[in-house]
Amino acid sequence: MKKTIRDFDLKDKKVIIRVDFNVPIKDSIIDDDNRIKQSLETINYAIENGAKVILLSHLGRVKEESDKEKNTLEPVALRLSELLDKEIIFVEETRGEILEEEINNLKSGEVLLVENTRFEDLNGKLESSNDLELGKYWASLGDIFINDAFGTCHRAHASNVGIASNLPSGIGFLVEKEVKALEGAIKDPKRPLTVILGGAKVKDKIGVIENLVEIADYILIGGGMAYTFLSACDINIGKSLKDEENIEFCKTMLKKYPDKIILPIDTINAKEIKENVETTECFIKDMKDDDIGLDIGHSTVKLFKEYLLDSKTVIWNGTLGYSEIEEFSTGTKEICEVLKNMDAIKIIGGGDTASAIINFGYKDYMTHISTGGGASLEFLEGKQLPGIKIISEK
Ligand code: AMP
Repeated sequence: MKKTIRDFDLKDKKVIIRVDFNVPIKDSIIDDDNRIKQSLETINYAIENGAKVILLSHLGRVKEESDKEKNTLEPVALRLSELLDKEIIFVEETRGEILEEEINNLKSGEVLLVENTRFEDLNGKLESSNDLELGKYWASLGDIFINDAFGTCHRAHASNVGIASNLPSGIGFLVEKEVKALEGAIKDPKRPLTVILGGAKVKDKIGVIENLVEIADYILIGGGMAYTFLSACDINIGKSLKDEENIEFCKTMLKKYPDKIILPIDTINAKEIKENVETTECFIKDMKDDDIGLDIGHSTVKLFKEYLLDSKTVIWNGTLGYSEIEEFSTGTKEICEVLKNMDAIKIIGGGDTASAIINFGYKDYMTHISTGGGASLEFLEGKQLPGIKIISEK
């Protein structure tokens, strides 16, 4: 068992918390502050327990000097200050005397936010390549390290694995919640366990399919990747997405698990991918050469519903159609509606699926919506995430 923030006496200690403040910002305005809100429980706990709180986070990608301006954490410091109703000491540096002095002057219960850790990527990708010296340096600024940035746990960076290698460490409340939800769904799940997989490409989901096909009772496949599976059954899919390299993989899976992998039976098509485009609906076998399949059809929703209504656990990763465009969002919305009324454990992977479910207004009906797209995907692939693996054992 990994240590958590509750396993430490935080009083008067310099506690470095790696949070995920990677929020969408346009012209210094934060579009969605969900990630900041998700970190509050851990930050508040540290404040209430008398820690000197030092926050580290990345924001976007920093490849050249000009990326710094749009990726500064300053707007985050302001929003965090509003949410905590407390002054935040924002240091515009990622290392050096000013930062060290500010940290040494910190009083118990005060909060300091360090500038974007990825500013260190300008000098040879030091943060993203987990430079040993950088991890050691950041660790030297604190007494205890808490990792609460689930969204980066699948990456070994200096600000997570690097620091944890050099300090006593634990996980925060958000990482604990994520691990509990995802682990609970795949280790000893309430059955039947049904997995809904969608999204663009088969390539991105091979690891998840391979791992979950052994664990799940059913895998319902929609989205762009469904058409590659259908093509593997020698069905004409017109101009739909086709992941040529993985046709053989699909064939093997369908042959090995014919009753477990459930494919769409009808489809919503268009000739172009754009707003307000004319759409047609047909059975899969009736697709025309110039059709692009962009959503599951109504009969598929009905079919998927039959499997879902029986299920006690549902894991969903990947939208069932090109749901950023209204015309192709029906399948995803209708499956949301099915889940809304179900009494089951409903776990949603992060990324596009999470955004779609939140935007369509179904957030409150899900048991858990992950904050990490890549991290939740790797978790479901059965991988150990480096940012969690390195944390001290109890
Ligand atoms: P992923 O990040 O792999 O979960 O993929 C999500 C993306 O898949 C979204 O941007 C969707 O627009 C896209 N997608 C879903 N269904 C289709 C489809 N039928 N054709 C093309 N792209 C799709």
